[in-house]
Amino acid sequence: MVRTSKEFPGVEWIESTENFIKVNQNICTGCAKCLNVCLAGCYELLDHKVKIRSLKECMECSACWYICPEEAIKFSYPPGGKGFKTRFG
Ligand code: SF4
Ligand code: SF4
Repeated sequence: MVRTSKEFPGVEWIESTENFIKVNQNICTGCAKCLNVCLAGCYELLDHKVKIRSLKECMECSACWYICPEEAIKFSYPPGGKGFKTRFG
């Protein structure tokens, strides 16, 4: 299924069933840096740990992976050409 956004014209997402970003709950300290840096609202804080809320609007920017001081985030891209797309490719 292809989804578009009023806030971001020219952008679309081809839905993926893959959890292509994962948080290692054993390492996460709940500092919320990833949650605060994510413009797509993909994260939520529950019981002092961060969890993926939804990757439906993830822009695959990898900012969450980059900012995590504990290296608790495993970042990858959705497989098979799915996920974030712009009109430029
Ligand atoms: S930045 Fe890393 S340690 Fe901090 S809440 Fe996110 S996953 Fe956990
Ligand atoms: S890759 Fe970017 S948009 Fe996706 S969850 Fe991480 S910070 Fe949010």
